[in-house]
Amino acid sequence: MRRWLFADQLGPHFLDGPRQPVLLVESKAVFRRRRFHRQKAHLVLSALRHRAAELGDRAVFVRAETYGEAVRGLGEPVSVCHPTSRRARDLAHRLAAEVLPPRGFVTAPADFTAWAGGRRGLRLEDFYRDARRRHDVLMDGAEPAGGTWNLDHDNRQPPPRGADKLAVPPPPAIREDDVDAQVREDLDRWARDDGIEFVGRDGPRLFPATRREALARLRHFVRHRLPVFGPYEDAMLAGDPFMAHSMLSAPINLGLLDPLEAVHAAEDAYRSGAAPLASVEGFVRQLIGWRDFVWHLYWYFEPEYRGENRLGARSSLPDWFANLDADHVDARCLADVLAGVRDRGWVHHIPRLMVLGNYALQRGWRPDELSDWFHRCFVDGYEWVMTANVIGMSQFADAGRMSTKPYAAGGAYINRMSDYCGGCRYDPKVRLGDHACPYTAGYWAFLSRNAAAFEGNHRMRQPLRGLDRLGDVDAVVEQEAARGTP
Ligand code: SF4
Repeated sequence: MRRWLFADQLGPHFLDGPRQPVLLVESKAVFRRRRFHRQKAHLVLSALRHRAAELGDRAVFVRAETYGEAVRGLGEPVSVCHPTSRRARDLAHRLAAEVLPPRGFVTAPADFTAWAGGRRGLRLEDFYRDARRRHDVLMDGAEPAGGTWNLDHDNRQPPPRGADKLAVPPPPAIREDDVDAQVREDLDRWARDDGIEFVGRDGPRLFPATRREALARLRHFVRHRLPVFGPYEDAMLAGDPFMAHSMLSAPINLGLLDPLEAVHAAEDAYRSGAAPLASVEGFVRQLIGWRDFVWHLYWYFEPEYRGENRLGARSSLPDWFANLDADHVDARCLADVLAGVRDRGWVHHIPRLMVLGNYALQRGWRPDELSDWFHRCFVDGYEWVMTANVIGMSQFADAGRMSTKPYAAGGAYINRMSDYCGGCRYDPKVRLGDHACPYTAGYWAFLSRNAAAFEGNHRMRQPLRGLDRLGDVDAVVEQEAARGTP
């Protein structure tokens, strides 16, 4: 039967064999509905069109307004691997496609459900260990390689003192081709003639759109960047947005690489002595731990989870943030990270969590709007990725179903983990007055606003005691309520 491939199912592992006929659909309606980052739109279209060109006669490639139009117009039955959003899954059912189990993830849904059933709290660490055992990754018999499951404590180093870049070679540049040129021309035309709006700036394509490019990036990462990845995975440098991160999330989420092949490549590097265990363990944890965990939670939690807002955060995202207007932001960390989103559609997980998400959490911005913003503005963003990451982890809007405490932090954290504060007009130690760091002041204002909600949380006892000792908290709250663009 012909296999309908969505644009995030582009690798060979979504097909049953090398000769299976394929349906690929490019839907314009997707871009009319929401304002995606220009570079994300480019990447997705480029990947889809490259795949169509690779498949040649084996693929029917339809450009249509909607998926429904394309599938109905085909007039033959199709099968599809379980789509990655509820909307797409329901559409596949409505179009009478045969829906197969998901591919592109490591743990099977039934195994996750069996693991999760009856547990009071769903914690990544437990899931991750179970996945390591189940898939025999970094295991020496029944024991974890190196005798320990978790090397997080080795992987939280601040950036090297005095360095403005990590000493690792950058990923090889992507060479754009005729397909990219056509995509760019089409997107310009859609914006000009069809009123389709994008957010962010156009720029050279930075992420793989073909399997060949994705494999090249994986090989380069494992050989040159993985050894340094672990210790500095949480660090930020203004002059080095990529640090030693793999930049593989986009091609993996497009389905160009199977996460397990990346995991095996990293494990091989450890076994051959080419990369230290801490780096390899950190990378493996991201893939078979965190990535799979948030995928399963998207389906395991009820659909209403996306609207959770237990801290009652009611403010809409301000325009400067929604439109990535970094030029009018003084806070150096936030300006740099927002400019990174504007110019690349990508920053690594710590700027996402501790600069962008932390700021939104402190201000009481609506979690559903923030989740949608991350989905649209990041090249690797999808609804399944962002729901648990933003609603649960970053915004603590689910009252602790997936995190034991909110990821709120003051300027001291950013100062320790980056080189931002030195060149900033604010001072991370100051919470009141002209030089008050918006993160430090925002942290106390956030705690003050939510003190009652955190009362029974033993991990928040110490911060709440700190809040009690603060003599000027009312003034800080007032100051932050009046703060415009930071
Ligand atoms: Fe960011 Fe505050 Fe540091 Fe400025 S002082 S860079 S606003 S954490």
